[in-house]
Amino acid sequence: MAHGLNPAQADAVETLSGPLLVLAGAGTGKTRVVTFRIANLIRHGTAPDRILAVTFTNKAAGEMKERVGELLGYAGKRKKRGEKRPEPTISTFHAHCVRVLRRHATALGYPAKFSIYDRSDQESLAREILRQLRLPGTALKPGDLLGIISNWKNDSVHPDQAPLVAATDKEHLAAAGYRRYQEGLKTRGAMDFDDLLLQTEVLFDEHPEIRDAEASRFDHVLVDEYQDTNGSQYRITKHLAGKHRNLCVVGDDDQSIYAWRGADVTHILNFKNDWPDAKIVCLEANYRSCGSILEMANRLIKFNATRHDKVLRPSRPDGMRPRIAQHKDETKESQSVVGEIKHLIENQHIQPRDIAILFRTNEQPRLFETELRKADVPYVMLGSQSFFDRREVRDMVAYLKWIDQPDDEVSLLRIINTPSRGMSPKSVKTLMEHAVADGVSIWQVMQRREIVADLSPAAQRGVADLQSVHADVTARTKSDSLTAAMETLLTRTAYADEINRLYDEPEDRQNRMASLGEVANAIGAFEDNREDADLTGFLADIALSGREMGNEKDKLAMQNAVWLLTLHAAKGLEFPVVYMVGMEEGLLPHSRSVKSGREEDIAEERRLCYVGITRAQEQLTLSMALTRRKWGKPRPTIPSQFLYEVTGQATNPHQFRKQRKMAGR
Ligand code: ATP
Ligand code: MG
Repeated sequence: MAHGLNPAQADAVETLSGPLLVLAGAGTGKTRVVTFRIANLIRHGTAPDRILAVTFTNKAAGEMKERVGELLGYAGKRKKRGEKRPEPTISTFHAHCVRVLRRHATALGYPAKFSIYDRSDQESLAREILRQLRLPGTALKPGDLLGIISNWKNDSVHPDQAPLVAATDKEHLAAAGYRRYQEGLKTRGAMDFDDLLLQTEVLFDEHPEIRDAEASRFDHVLVDEYQDTNGSQYRITKHLAGKHRNLCVVGDDDQSIYAWRGADVTHILNFKNDWPDAKIVCLEANYRSCGSILEMANRLIKFNATRHDKVLRPSRPDGMRPRIAQHKDETKESQSVVGEIKHLIENQHIQPRDIAILFRTNEQPRLFETELRKADVPYVMLGSQSFFDRREVRDMVAYLKWIDQPDDEVSLLRIINTPSRGMSPKSVKTLMEHAVADGVSIWQVMQRREIVADLSPAAQRGVADLQSVHADVTARTKSDSLTAAMETLLTRTAYADEINRLYDEPEDRQNRMASLGEVANAIGAFEDNREDADLTGFLADIALSGREMGNEKDKLAMQNAVWLLTLHAAKGLEFPVVYMVGMEEGLLPHSRSVKSGREEDIAEERRLCYVGITRAQEQLTLSMALTRRKWGKPRPTIPSQFLYEVTGQATNPHQFRKQRKMAGR
């Protein structure tokens, strides 16, 4: 077994039962331990489907599945259709919660086929709630309302508790909005992302028999990146492992970077309090990075005052020293980074997929994208939702959601007159009024002859059209395949005509049609990979992956393209060549933390910087621009305090800010 594992790793992998904590620095093989341990449990007779492993991203889950398959010798042997090979469940918390909720949502008063609202669905609902509350537009914006609700949900604050915890004016207004928002979701048969965790927790609290049934599906639970679990995830994990106590968690407190989303590093630091008989394994050898990169990382993280001190030593030679590059402005920065990348690919035979550009904020990648396109270097951006934000894709997904769940009003309202079918705003308003008055969905109102008969003739035809589209497409999903149903949907709605109406440029039209093609591709791929593929499953799949995946083309390109990633999205990954760009005050550390000035906020930014540095295996460049445009005007920048810290020019975390104060900034 010890093959490919050091003694400490082997110890963890060979510990087959009881609570187990691996608390260790970056690149020490924590994820490798989880993967090998799954394979080892199976070799020692645990049935694969009795194992649940939780990862932080879908990408990580995919890689872990593949790796476990390789270790068990499944590699290359594709499952034959119909063959049942029990497999461990390896997924994110969110994806696992969706499975649990699909089985039991009715116990909470949600339909089993509840839809999962993404950001823009949430925004439409929030706008409607604010209208109902008749607040002046400036008092609380939809984004504010959603942000506050999300924080509460992450802290497991329920609507009836919200007025008690509300502190600011905005929060008091939001407390009223929260209740309506939650009711709104429920009548629409929908949950938002935070609900997936929160409602699972509620389910387990209110229905112990369901909790026990769900817990008894597994004999082993393993959690990667445990330092970033929030309250709900922590409690769900405890519920799932409570009986058998076979819980293995791995993580690194120095890489805790989701406090802003409710993650709490004390969950990992206090593991021993929860599980007093826990075995603790420390890993010290870093296998990922060359010595001088690791030295830089170690130097940086020491500036964090409160941390669990760990040994992290290189097992690789020193290698190339990390570089710091200053550029005249942000355009030069992107040109020069991309120029170097092109050189590496063309002259040093480095594969595009072995290179990553890491950044802190969502505005940063645009320039790099432009340069990469100009240089004809393939790239893929992770963490962007652009594909699923395209209008035609949103329309199509709304159609599919409505087919699956006709009471889903946000989706129905999106497509009710797209393409146009005589449903004037006035008719829609009439239908909505009836729906509100009777507490039913618009779709149910549309089934009532007496109400429909009062609408204009055009709207009556519109209602009839929607009913027949719904019936035809639904029939096709049952009699044929999802792919076929999608074809029916496109022809029955004449959506191509809509595209021709909206866009004049042939190229535009082609692109738009191509993205509909991508939706069809995604459905096709989903159907090929799943035996139990249905529309509900597909919609859940894209809701969960839309967050971190680009489009289907990106997925193809991903096989060999330069990675553009936020530091948050880079967690757990590794690349031979890494560029960390925009190393400036206000970007990293983020302006929010610079402004707040609180040591704990800066400490989190420092951990983010540490995560970035420790992604690099062989070559690391930290780059910055001396000026950067803000609202169109170039402004001088201040080098990130972390640059001083990694180069040994700052001796304590306060020194830098003192210097800046003295310089009058
Ligand atoms: P992070 O903290 O970034 O999540 P990690 O602790 O999960 O890192 P892994 O990703 O599991 O670390 O491992 C880092 C790299 O080191 C991987 O490429 C892995 O294959 C390699 N590695 C880990 N352990 C060993 C070992 N014993 N021998 C050789 N390579 C190893
Ligand atoms: Mg890892």
